[in-house]
Amino acid sequence: MTAPLPKGSTIGILGSGQLGQMLALAAKKLGYKTHIYSPERDTPAGLVADREIVADYLDLKALAAFAKEVDVATYEFENVPADTAAYLSSSTTLYPNANVLAIAQDRWIEKSFLQDIGERTAPCAKVDSQEDLEAALHKIGLPAVLKTRRFGYDGKGQIMLRSERDIEDAFEQLGNVPAILEGFVHFTREISVVAARSPEGHIACFDAAENIHEDHILAVSIAPARIPETLLERAKETAENIMIQLQYVGVIGVEMFETEAGGLVVNEMAPRVHNSGHWTQDACLASQFEQHIRAIANLPLADPARHSDAVMINLIGEAVRPYETATAKSDEFIHLYGKRQARPGRKMGHVNRLYPLGYIARHPERF
Ligand code: AMP
Repeated sequence: MTAPLPKGSTIGILGSGQLGQMLALAAKKLGYKTHIYSPERDTPAGLVADREIVADYLDLKALAAFAKEVDVATYEFENVPADTAAYLSSSTTLYPNANVLAIAQDRWIEKSFLQDIGERTAPCAKVDSQEDLEAALHKIGLPAVLKTRRFGYDGKGQIMLRSERDIEDAFEQLGNVPAILEGFVHFTREISVVAARSPEGHIACFDAAENIHEDHILAVSIAPARIPETLLERAKETAENIMIQLQYVGVIGVEMFETEAGGLVVNEMAPRVHNSGHWTQDACLASQFEQHIRAIANLPLADPARHSDAVMINLIGEAVRPYETATAKSDEFIHLYGKRQARPGRKMGHVNRLYPLGYIARHPERF
């Protein structure tokens, strides 16, 4: 057993967006300092952290200085370059570990891993050329989704293939980059589980949330998801299985589909705190951010039970305006990230609306 990270220690965070900001606030609450590493200036995380270094992720001199100043390092986004992760792992403790990043950064490796540990995914095939695509379609059939293996987010880097006509130049349209073809999953809902695992192997899963996207961006999360109790349990077991197999430390977000047949299919995992877990800030004893800091600091994990049902609404672009000067109500909590420009599609903040425990399951039609 390793001792908890002493109070006053410094937690290093790679990345400086709102997730880093909320991690830094949670770290402060638990008595830790934070040091942000970011290639950008004037950032949401920099606004609240004790220190911030502005440097490229592959700047070894800056990384060396950062590693010396932090007692443990973590990240708020999954596209940390492999060399950066390897360097930090050799000079400090990095949670979640670099192997987790390597798996989560590549959709093909990720899907293969999930299948190997017994989880169900969409049928898929590796695609490195237009010929591979045609062979893969022969096996998987239409409709299907062609996705880049790396760097996809918010629906970017993917093409929906519905008919023969969509196939013709699809690989080129995607940019002639390594890709994966996935069979289309006919789903009724998209759900996600946010869960934490400590270095000693303790696990705490928050209840699965149901996620509604607009323009490929998460718009609303409803917690708990309006799915049968057995599936809520199965979703947690999936997150547990993944974390155990990866010897995971920290918070993970696992996205799944509820299929029309009533089963679960894993879509992807995010090795970090997750937008669909923001509801935990106001509906649980400890938020996903606190839970992540607890995990990487080897503190006991908090009880993940909900004290309320919750609906999280992302404030995207100009939708933030009415909330900039509003005050919280007893059942509505406002979180703003301090970004100056409200560009379309930019996440500016979120609102958590609370309901009595069990209300969503009793009145599913109201949401
Ligand atoms: P992803 O980048 O993999 O999270 O995909 C973005 C969104 O595209 C998901 O939230 C789904 O709505 C949709 N999607 C992705 N893959 C599939 C699939 N195999 N079948 C059906 N819908 C999908």
